[in-house]
Amino acid sequence: MVGDGGSDHQGGADLGRSFIVELPPRRDCEAVVEKSWEQRFPGGLTFEGQRFAFPEGLSVRAEVRWLEESLLSVRLSLAARVAGECARCLSEAELAISDDLMYLYVPCGLDLGKDTELASDDGFLPVEVDFWGRTLDIAAQVWESLLMLLPVKLLCREDCAGLCPVCGADLNEGPCSCAQEGDPRLSVLRDVFAGLAGEAENKNEI
Ligand SMILES: [Zn+2]
Ligand SMILES: [Zn+2]
Repeated sequence: MVGDGGSDHQGGADLGRSFIVELPPRRDCEAVVEKSWEQRFPGGLTFEGQRFAFPEGLSVRAEVRWLEESLLSVRLSLAARVAGECARCLSEAELAISDDLMYLYVPCGLDLGKDTELASDDGFLPVEVDFWGRTLDIAAQVWESLLMLLPVKLLCREDCAGLCPVCGADLNEGPCSCAQEGDPRLSVLRDVFAGLAGEAENKNEI
């Protein structure tokens, strides 16, 4: 999952680097280790058909602590400005994204359902680890969190009117001439209804 070349950002697998955190001493549930990164992201990424640029890069912060001897929680905080085309009118759009996600690192094979009450808290995203080292690379979770925070549709503004499907005019600048003539697709429906009404009248006469 963690590459160090990092040339492929076309919706690829990661940010092309590792995000290493040191673990607090085992059995010390009071200790908290914090680390933050300012990640430049010039290539941006394509996700679900949308292109996202990150003009100010990406801020990542991790807060690591043991919940139990073998359960490690990582609070990941991400913040960025994303820029791209408005999904409706294709003009430039920007959005600030930021959120905290809680990851729970557990040893492989641990049944969370039985072994801990944390299973009832579905706010935790579980990650299995093979063994505990002194450090942990959370690059895969940083990438996953980033994709989760991306907007489903980037819009220039919430109520963007989009483009006219007939003439392509930007409807944010006012109605186009199609609107005055009525939608041609609706006029087809009007003809159909007129026909049905005519048939009904004919039946009444019989
Ligand atoms: Zn728009
Ligand atoms: Zn139009």
